[in-house]
Amino acid sequence: MSETSKPDPLPTPSPACVPGPKEASNRFRIDLFRMLPPVAWIARRRWFQFAVVLPNLLFFSLFLLAGVFGTPVGNRNIIIVFVWILWWFLLISLLVPFASRIWCTACPFPFFGEWIQRRALIRSRSFDPRTQKGDLSGIAIGRNRYFGGNRRWPKALTNIWIQNVGFLALCTFSALFLTRPIVTVVVLGSLFLLATVLHAVYRQRTFCSYVCPVSGFLSLFSMASTLEVRPRDTGVCATCKEKACLAGSEKGWGCPWLLYPSKLERNNYCGLCMECVKTCTHDNMTVKLRPFCSDTHLKGYDEAWKAFIMLALAAAYSVLYQGPWGIFKDWANIGEVGNWKGFAVYAAALWSSSLLLIPAVFVAAVALGRILARRRAKTEAAEPSFKDVFLAFAYPLVPLGLLAWVTFSLPLMLVNGSYILMVISDPFGWGWNLFGTARIAWTPIVPHWGPYLQVPLLLTGLYFALKTGTAHARRLFPGGAAARKAFAPVAAVLTGFVVFFLWLYVG
Ligand code: SF4
Ligand code: SF4
Ligand code: SF4
Repeated sequence: MSETSKPDPLPTPSPACVPGPKEASNRFRIDLFRMLPPVAWIARRRWFQFAVVLPNLLFFSLFLLAGVFGTPVGNRNIIIVFVWILWWFLLISLLVPFASRIWCTACPFPFFGEWIQRRALIRSRSFDPRTQKGDLSGIAIGRNRYFGGNRRWPKALTNIWIQNVGFLALCTFSALFLTRPIVTVVVLGSLFLLATVLHAVYRQRTFCSYVCPVSGFLSLFSMASTLEVRPRDTGVCATCKEKACLAGSEKGWGCPWLLYPSKLERNNYCGLCMECVKTCTHDNMTVKLRPFCSDTHLKGYDEAWKAFIMLALAAAYSVLYQGPWGIFKDWANIGEVGNWKGFAVYAAALWSSSLLLIPAVFVAAVALGRILARRRAKTEAAEPSFKDVFLAFAYPLVPLGLLAWVTFSLPLMLVNGSYILMVISDPFGWGWNLFGTARIAWTPIVPHWGPYLQVPLLLTGLYFALKTGTAHARRLFPGGAAARKAFAPVAAVLTGFVVFFLWLYVG
C-alpha cells in the first residue's frame, strides 16, 4: 500500500537520536518554561517560528542584494560585516554556548523548502489515522500530511561526514568570503538553493541533519551548551500512548529533525524548533537550563573528526589572522594574491592536519594510554574497546575547541566592531548615512584587553577538557591509577594545544 493511503503512525526516528551511553544522572536542571511562563506561552504559539524566521529572511535578502549591487570593498559591505564578523561572533561566543542551536530556530535557509513540504507557513496539517478524518491531502507521515518527494535519506549517509567535508571545503576559501561580497552571495545563495531542493526531495529536515555545512559545528558545540530541550518526566513518556512529539498531532508537526523527542539525550541534532513543545499531549516537553558540558558522549567517528576539524581550523585561522606570518595569509588569500602554489600548500596543510595529523596524534595518545592503563589495572574487568576510549577521549575537544574559537573570534570583533556601525548607516557602501554613523572613524575597541580575555578563555577550555576527560577515564577504567594513566597522554596533548594557542596569542 502506498504512503498516501496507509499512514505511518510512528515515523522511524533518525539513527542520530538512538540513545548512546547514558549521560550522568545526577543532573542539575532548571525548567525554563516553569520559571518564565511567558516564554513557554510564546514557544507554544504556532506562529512562533515564522515570527523569528521572517525578519531573518528579510535581513538575508538585504545582505544578498548588498553583495550583488553594493561596494566590492569587503569591510564596507553589510554582507561581509554582518555575516562574517557579527553573525559569526554572536553564534560562536553567545548563541551556541548559552542557547544551543537557537540559530536553527531562526535560520532562513530551510524556509522555502519547508514551505514546499508543508504548503503552510504557520498552521500544521494533521489527520486521524484510525478514522481517516482530518486533512487528507499530500502524503501521510505519522499524523501529519506532507507534500514533495518525502524520500528517506540513504542510510549510509546518516552521519555528518558530508557536513565535515563541506565545512572544511568552505573554510579553505575563507579569505575569499572575507574580502569579496559576491563570493559570500554565491555561498549563501547556494545554501538556500540546496536546502530548497533537498527539502523538496527528502523528508523534513534531512538537509539540516545531514548536509548543511553549518550544522556540523553547531551540533558538536551545542553539546557544551547551557540550554536543552528535554522531556520533564520520562516516566510520563513511558506510559504515553499518543507519542505526538514523534508522530505529530493537530497542534503541530512531528519532530521535523527526525528525532524522538521523548528520548532526547543530547543536544546535537535538535534544532530547537519547539514543535514537540506544542504537540506533546501531556505538556511534558520543556526547555531547561543546565551546567556547561552536560552532554559528554560522542557517538561516532564522524563526530570525533568534526572535533578534530574544528580544532585544526581554530589553530589555522589563529595563525593566519592573528599570527605575525604574512606569508601564510598571502597563501590563503587566493582571490587577492593569486599565488596558486602557495594556496595549494596552505590547503594541503589544512586538510592533512584536520583529517590525518591531529587524529593520528590522538590515536597514538589513546593507544599509549590504554597500554599504560593495562599495566596498572587491578581488576579483571573487560578492557573497554579502542573505539569507546577514542570517542570518550575525543570529547574534551568539544569544550576546548569551542573556547579556542571564542578566543579567536573575540579580538576580531573588538578590532572590527566599528565597521558594524558604519555599514548599518551605509549597507551598500553607496555613501548613504541613514543613522549618522557611516563616517565614524575605524576604532578598535579595547585592543589591549585581548590577552587578558584570551588567556582565561583558553584556560577555561582546558579546565573543562581535563575535567570531562578525567570523568570519562574514571568511567572506562575503574581504579584511580589506571584511569589517570589512561588519560595522561591525551591530557598532555590537550595541554600542548592550549600552550600552542597561548604562545600564538600572548607568547
Ligand atoms: S542546520 Fe543549517 S540550514 Fe538547518 S536550520 Fe541550522 S543552520 Fe539553518
Ligand atoms: S514527549 Fe509528550 S508526546 Fe512525546 S512521548 Fe513524552 S509525553 Fe508523549
Ligand atoms: S521537535 Fe523538539 S526535539 Fe525535535 S528539533 Fe524541534 S525542539 Fe528539537
